[in-house]
Amino acid sequence: MVNVVKNVRFDGQLWNLSIKDGVIEKIEHANSDYSTTSTDFDAKGFLYVPALADMHVHLDKHFLGEPWRPLQPFTTLPKQLKFEKEMLASMQSSLEERVSLMTELMVKQGTTKIRTHVDVDPVIGLMHLEAVVQLREQLRGIMDIEIVAFPQQGLLKSNSLGVMKDALRNGADLVGGVDPAGLDRKVEASLEAMFELSAEFDAGVDLHLHDPGHLGLYTIDLFADYTMQAKKQGRTAVSHAYCLGMLADDEINQTLSALSEADVAIISSVPIDRPAPRAQSLLNAGVKFLIGNDNVRDAWSPFGNGDLLQRGSRLAEKSGWITDEQLLTAYSFITNRSLTPQLGEKADFMLVNAENLQHAIAAHPKREAVFSNGQLLTNIENEKILDGTIS
Ligand SMILES: [Zn+2]
Repeated sequence: MVNVVKNVRFDGQLWNLSIKDGVIEKIEHANSDYSTTSTDFDAKGFLYVPALADMHVHLDKHFLGEPWRPLQPFTTLPKQLKFEKEMLASMQSSLEERVSLMTELMVKQGTTKIRTHVDVDPVIGLMHLEAVVQLREQLRGIMDIEIVAFPQQGLLKSNSLGVMKDALRNGADLVGGVDPAGLDRKVEASLEAMFELSAEFDAGVDLHLHDPGHLGLYTIDLFADYTMQAKKQGRTAVSHAYCLGMLADDEINQTLSALSEADVAIISSVPIDRPAPRAQSLLNAGVKFLIGNDNVRDAWSPFGNGDLLQRGSRLAEKSGWITDEQLLTAYSFITNRSLTPQLGEKADFMLVNAENLQHAIAAHPKREAVFSNGQLLTNIENEKILDGTIS
C-alpha cells in the first residue's frame, strides 16, 4: 500500500499526496519535509489527472480477445438484434473471460467507475448478469461497477418482465429499457413497466433511446414526467437520446427544462456517425450530461478501445470546444472526482505526461500509472519529466 505519492504535478507545481485508507489525507508542496518510507511512490513530475467514470458500457457484448468478426451493415433493429445474438452465441472465450478482459482494459486506461448494461431475456435468463455480478465482487475496491438489467430484445416485446425482476433480485442496481416506441411499440406501457419495476426494487432507471425526432422527444417528455411522479429525481437517465441532436434548440428547450427539473441525466457515447445531444444545449439548460464508450468492438461497431479520455476529447472536438474552460467542462463529463486532488476524497487518479488537464483531454496521452483507492494498479514505465519539461 502506498503511503505517499511524491512529486505529483498539478497547478503547475509539484506536490506530495499522503494517502490513508484509500483517501487523500494530506497535500503538501513536494519540497516540504515528510517521513520517507519504503512504500512511497515517486510520480516523477507526471500530471495528476482524476480517474474516469464510464457511464455506458456493455461488458458482456464485446468481441475483445476473439478472432476478428466481420460486421454487416445496420438495416433494422430486429435484424441487428438477431445478428448480435448469433455472434454472441459463437464466442470462443467464456463470458467470465470476456467481462474480465474489458474491465482490465478500462482500468489500465484510468477508469475506476463504470455503469454496465447487462443483457437479460427469457432465453439467456441471468447468464450474463451472473458473470458480471461475480466480476463486481472480484473488483471490489478497484472498480466501482453499477449494473443495469437490460432487456435488449424489448422489455414488453420479449416478455422480459419476469427475468427483469429476477435480475433486480440478484444484483442489478438499475432498470433498463430500450425504445418504448420503436421496439416495444407501446410508449406509455413500456415506460410504466420500467417505473413500476424501479418502484418495486427501489432502483434507478436508465433507458436506451434511439427513437428519432419527435417520437423520441415525446418519449423523453413522458420519461421526465414518470421520474417526477415516482420521485426518482437524480436516479434516472436517458442514454443516447439521438432525437435531441436531430431537432433545433427551439423544439427541444421545453423538454430540456423538464429534464433539468426532474434531474434526469443524458448519457451519450458521442457518436460521430449519427446525431447526438448537443453538449452546449444541455449545459445551457442545466441538464446533467455524462459520457460512456458504449460499443467497443462488438456486433454494432468495430471501433473503440475503451479509453474514456479519448471519448471526452471527441466530445470537445465534436462540440467545437477549444478554450481551456470548455476543455475542463468536457473533462467534468468523464469523471466523478474533483478536477484537482481534494482532502478527504478517494485517491482515484492517473499520472500522465501533460502540462495540465486541458492538455490531457486534448491529447489523451498514455496512462503512466493508475491509482484506485490509493492502490497502485499500473506502474510508470517512462522516467523523465521531473524538471517540468514536457517532451
Ligand atoms: Zn448501450
